[in-house]
Amino acid sequence: MTGRTHLATGIAGGLALAYLAGGMPHQQLLIVAMTMVGSLLPDVDHPQSILSGYIPGSGIILNGIMGIRHRGFTHSLLFVGLFVTIPHIMANFAPIPDQLIAICAGMLIHFAGDMLTPQGVPLLYPLKANWKLAPGVLLSIGHGLIESLVFVTAAGGIVYLLVLHVQRYL
Ligand SMILES: [Zn+2]
Repeated sequence: MTGRTHLATGIAGGLALAYLAGGMPHQQLLIVAMTMVGSLLPDVDHPQSILSGYIPGSGIILNGIMGIRHRGFTHSLLFVGLFVTIPHIMANFAPIPDQLIAICAGMLIHFAGDMLTPQGVPLLYPLKANWKLAPGVLLSIGHGLIESLVFVTAAGGIVYLLVLHVQRYL
């Protein structure tokens, strides 16, 4: 799945989360931004991903030096779990901030997107099994179509949720 589609699903998911969470507009904006970052974060293991462009050398360090392959560790529930647990422990078990939850939600949205591709996602890494939302054969046939459908649905969701958000403040 392309970074563009991941970003669109991340924005749509972030707007939905912000709408549900409520709060002041700047807090909601932060939730959308963090969900967007989360929706791009798992592909930091790919040198040509959107986020890798903003973190120079990240792909080379992860792939070349640490030996992390694309769609491996950063596409697992273990990665999400550590992403929440480590700061939680370091903060002396303080309540988990909404922004961190939003990043994790973005990552889970990313996983769902990649699970619509024939390759799937190793959700239970280090176990090697790849998880998909439909049989690989079906996904292979409809790959381009599914990607386009997800993108159009996410784009429509963005418009719809933006209208809801604007209406709330009118
Ligand atoms: Zn990915």
